[in-house]
Amino acid sequence: MDILTIGSGSSGNSYKMSDGETAILLEAGIKFQKVQQALKFKTRQIKGVLVTHEHGDHAKYVVDYLLNGLNVYMTAGTKKSLNIEHHRLFTVEYKSAFKIGSLTILPFETQHDVAEPCGYLIKSDNGSKLLFATDTYYIKYKVPGITHMLLEVNHDYDYMMENVKNGHLHQGLANRIMKSHLNLENAIKYLQSSDLSQLKEIHLIHLSNSNSKANEFKEKIQAITGVPVKIAGR
Ligand SMILES: [Zn+2]
Ligand SMILES: [Zn+2]
Repeated sequence: MDILTIGSGSSGNSYKMSDGETAILLEAGIKFQKVQQALKFKTRQIKGVLVTHEHGDHAKYVVDYLLNGLNVYMTAGTKKSLNIEHHRLFTVEYKSAFKIGSLTILPFETQHDVAEPCGYLIKSDNGSKLLFATDTYYIKYKVPGITHMLLEVNHDYDYMMENVKNGHLHQGLANRIMKSHLNLENAIKYLQSSDLSQLKEIHLIHLSNSNSKANEFKEKIQAITGVPVKIAGR
């Protein structure tokens, strides 16, 4: 599987993934023009766009993508929150798989402060399996045989608390972040309790600018997984 980060973090998310046969985008939080540039204007190869929830950094440009001829997928709750109707906009349900080309896609529930957030498990006919989980303080599901991961590691709890103590971050906002985003500690716990026997590559996504330490995250996750770790967008 080939994974390209076009943008990652609270300023906007979009990732391209391809199994060599079918290419899709994950999230619509980056301007379509920027996506066009990143894909060298080969946007016709994109067979669908999966959106996880309605926050702007994931869904701000959905209409733009639709008007440029892309099919977009999201839960009914997300669609309702965005208040968009379009013949290229499709709704998906938790635990109800659907196909886009050679990819079988299974949306699953995530834990975030929005209507109906989801992550996606994407299986290719070629045997690879990608887990995409972002904007969730916890991941309920353990999936055997994952080969690729796009996993949020938003912040480090202790580091964030230091920022609260120093007055750089409001306690209320810290509380909100804790209940809506995956921190390093929970990401590590998740990985330690997962079957990593098939894992080939992991991308750490949606890092906070002020509450994360990219190099430290990379080293720690590398030590646990034993596979190449990439920091999305860096
Ligand atoms: Zn986000
Ligand atoms: Zn969000």
